[in-house]
Amino acid sequence: MKKVVKFGGSSLASAAQFEKVGDIIRADANRKYVVPSAPGKRHSKDTKVTDMLYTTYALAEEDEDFSKELKDIQGRYQEIIDGLQLKLSLDKEFEKIEDNFKKKAGSNYAASRGEYLNGIIMANYLGFEFIDAAEVVFFDEEGNFIADKTDEVLSKRLKKVEYAVIPGFYGAKLDGTVHTFSRGGSDITGSIVAKAVHADVYENWTDVSGFLVADPRIISNPKGIDTITYRELRELSYMGASVLHEDAIFPVRKVGIPINIKNTNAPEDNGSWIVESTCQRPKYVITGIAGKKGFCSINIDKDMMNSEIGFGRKVLQVFEENGISFEHTPSGIDTMTVFVHQSEFSEKEQSVLAGIHKAVNPDSIELEADLALVAVVGRGMKATRGTAGRIFSALAHANVNVKMIDQGSSELNIIIGVRNEDFEAAIKAIYAIFVEIQL
Ligand code: ASP
Repeated sequence: MKKVVKFGGSSLASAAQFEKVGDIIRADANRKYVVPSAPGKRHSKDTKVTDMLYTTYALAEEDEDFSKELKDIQGRYQEIIDGLQLKLSLDKEFEKIEDNFKKKAGSNYAASRGEYLNGIIMANYLGFEFIDAAEVVFFDEEGNFIADKTDEVLSKRLKKVEYAVIPGFYGAKLDGTVHTFSRGGSDITGSIVAKAVHADVYENWTDVSGFLVADPRIISNPKGIDTITYRELRELSYMGASVLHEDAIFPVRKVGIPINIKNTNAPEDNGSWIVESTCQRPKYVITGIAGKKGFCSINIDKDMMNSEIGFGRKVLQVFEENGISFEHTPSGIDTMTVFVHQSEFSEKEQSVLAGIHKAVNPDSIELEADLALVAVVGRGMKATRGTAGRIFSALAHANVNVKMIDQGSSELNIIIGVRNEDFEAAIKAIYAIFVEIQL
């Protein structure tokens, strides 16, 4: 059995956290491949090493003195090395980094050093082999991840190594230039490594015990989610639930490796399992609720719209030409509404309106801003009658006016549009009806 274990920044922020991680890895000999993030925050006011690296490099790029900032970063690592009583010096590495900063090696290179150095410490601490991700994770010239080559090189390399540390977040372009994934990208590296070694499970260790049914900033002490499917997770993370990088599911999903989200500070908790599919019935009809504020609707009216072939396409083309993606398009016989992100829409507003007038000559266009979307997600909804009914009666009781309803054809989700100011009340009402009262 093989497990790939990825540890997030807060799990590796200090020597004490490293010790917890060491205990976790040593407790199970199947935990063979370790993917570390850079040291994160030690307390809420602290700065992540990745952020320190970005700021330090920005100084280097302006030809300003960055020696103090770089020393501070070295201090963060030294504290860990000292705390773990390792015989390891990063002096040479920091000399090289300073040199490369002066040569303007790029902000991707700069940020990647956070994981690189943490990987060196981790490998030393565990007695595992260190494998530089720049040698095994590849990007093309535009910075797109090259899955096939990475999988080939990485699996070949790891076949020869029983226990290894592969730093997360970065790789290299084919010419050797270091390149990173987007922020939080160590999750993706973990998934890539899990695929390459055909792991039985990809354990993603963080500072929470998995996914919660709803946002704890809105619901106090929400229930946890034991098992969630990849598709449910996509829906929820798109709507704002964030524990795992959005792209992290793709490599393992392709080969059916489950992800187990675990808590470094409470390793005995089961955490959440992310799986392709499951016969396990969810505890509640719904798996989770998530949502976002800041949407805007464009309501287009035109008599006899229904008989005008190509109306929808022409309208959506205007959004496309303005570089705006749409979220939902509920429609009636003579009306069509387009939901968009307010932040994307507001600066292009007049250009979009003019474009719609020109494209379809509507009778009227009305705009409504400050809307929120709430997604109720659950594989259990398909087999249960009355879910929508329960949601809407709960919202009515909470005095929330529903502006829009959209049920995905897979019956996996119901999206509800409400006013921004009703957002929290809507989530509370839905949570109460399915989780607290369990009608
Ligand atoms: N250290 C990087 C970040 O802060 C990547 C990661 O932690 O996954 O975004």
